[in-house]
Amino acid sequence: MGRVYREGTVMDFITIRDRKIPALGYGTWKLSGADCARGVEAAIAHGYRHIDTAQIYENEAEVGKAIAQSGIARDNLFLTTKVWIENLRPGALQDSVRVSLDKLRTDHVDLLLIHWPVTDKASFREQMDGLIDVQHGGLTKLIGVSNFTVAQMKDVAEDIGAPIVNNQVEYHPYLSQKPVLDYLMARGMFLTAYSPVARGAVKDDPVLQSIGKKYGKTPAQVTLRWLVQQGVAAIPKAGSEKHLQENINIFDFSLTNAEMAQIHGLARPDGRMINPGWAPQWDRAA
Ligand code: NAP
Repeated sequence: MGRVYREGTVMDFITIRDRKIPALGYGTWKLSGADCARGVEAAIAHGYRHIDTAQIYENEAEVGKAIAQSGIARDNLFLTTKVWIENLRPGALQDSVRVSLDKLRTDHVDLLLIHWPVTDKASFREQMDGLIDVQHGGLTKLIGVSNFTVAQMKDVAEDIGAPIVNNQVEYHPYLSQKPVLDYLMARGMFLTAYSPVARGAVKDDPVLQSIGKKYGKTPAQVTLRWLVQQGVAAIPKAGSEKHLQENINIFDFSLTNAEMAQIHGLARPDGRMINPGWAPQWDRAA
């Protein structure tokens, strides 16, 4: 498509087990077909080097096509996918990852996650055995989980001993994730924040607007800066090129400790947005 890659884009990285993970990634939930391919291609052109997809998003083929068309070297991209609930049984998990890799047109992902903590199809031990099996087979560099509570992370990381490095959870100014973040940080793992701009809701927030004014930044940029400044990775989705360009432009300013605390103060008990019927008993901040 003749796009000029912005190799000079400034980016923070999280380093885990010698892997450098771009702190700001591109989320692709709800992007499908040509919109998805266009979005991923534009994201790569604007300097994104971390792409998040999942089997259940049914867009892995479009993500793979866009990556192939971008011409970017595979080694320069951090790619995550997630195993959906129906593929958790022993054997099915491994088969489903091979299908994902075919769609993504690659021989490995960088991070493979269990998408939701459910155990009716396979125990956590069986799920972790499956992840470790594909990791040993070279189909993923790193393994992790998504939407796991602290108790569930203890189950898989401590009781089972699975070498997970990541938990991807909903995290934005309206939802505290202190227990989950503290647990991950204390063990050298990292948190990836999904729905990081609260699905667009942050743009109308007066506190974020007022902080943004000081730096010439939008509420979404202030929010994403607040996340990465905590050592968290954030994966905002943006269908529009304006938003995706805006969201990655957050590495040229810093929030003060007082501003960080002020944004933490926006959390509220009903702040969670993604809460399906099969959700676990979520952790609550004290
Ligand atoms: P999000 O990224 O917080 O919000 C996306 C929405 O915010 C879109 O409507 C987008 O608009 C808008 N937006 C983006 N940037 C903006 C900006 N700078 N200013 C104003 N509005 C802006 O929510 P999400 O899509 O739920 O989460 C992000 C990603 O996390 C997903 O795409 C997916 O990859 C992942 N995720 C994972 C899970 C899980 O269970 N693991 C669950 C949910 C999400 P436009 O599209 O019009 O630009």
